[in-house]
Amino acid sequence: MRLSRTLLPFALALLLGPLLAGCATLGGANYVSLEEEWQLGQQLEADINRQVRLVDDATLQRYVEQVGQQIVRETEMANLPWRFHVIADDEINAFNIPGGVVYVNTGLLAQSGSASEFVGALSHEIAHGVARHGTRRLSQAYEANLLAAVVLGGNPGLVEQIAAQVVAQGAFASFSRADEREADALAVQYMAGAGWDPEGLARLLERLVSQGGGIALFSTHPAPQERAANVRALSRGHTGRDDDGQFASVRSRAARY
Ligand code: ZN
Repeated sequence: MRLSRTLLPFALALLLGPLLAGCATLGGANYVSLEEEWQLGQQLEADINRQVRLVDDATLQRYVEQVGQQIVRETEMANLPWRFHVIADDEINAFNIPGGVVYVNTGLLAQSGSASEFVGALSHEIAHGVARHGTRRLSQAYEANLLAAVVLGGNPGLVEQIAAQVVAQGAFASFSRADEREADALAVQYMAGAGWDPEGLARLLERLVSQGGGIALFSTHPAPQERAANVRALSRGHTGRDDDGQFASVRSRAARY
């Protein structure tokens, strides 16, 4: 049972997530191999795809994939098979699950002020995946609670439970401040590398502050204002495109769902 070892930490995170939320999460080791992470990602993806309403729209799918791959090419995981999905949901949200899978809501496409704002959110989620924040958090749970993990490892249907939780919460995990900061910093780097204006991410954060949206996406600490300021500081000296000539039509198309 190759999977059972992979699933142990996930079982723990499912049950102990709230307890762990206050723990320090800096510099933890990752006990889930990249191969196991990708294998688990495929199973979670299959379950999540059954539970959400995926958009059957080749134009939207192609756009998100095209921009996603532009960003992935700037990462150290450019050689891995990343996958992108569009969910028909008005809420401004995007999330990453382990194994290089990124979900984007039509609400994020429809309500981003420009292409670079959308690419900012997409880059931030890709960065969580590259930094392996999800499996790193689970590894911390595994380390601290070995016995419980062994017991829970025999629980069938666990992947389905985790998938249901991801769908319900609109996120795989609530990351630490350090994780969010790292994902923002990496996102700036990737966007600049791909020729996008990295301040797009700051503009999206500021828009969400003023509009009060993006609860699931940006409600984590540190506060969006502080994150926007950090992103602006990191973006200094970088210039890039704010638009790609396609986004306006993509946005109005996304607003139909
Ligand atoms: Zn994040």
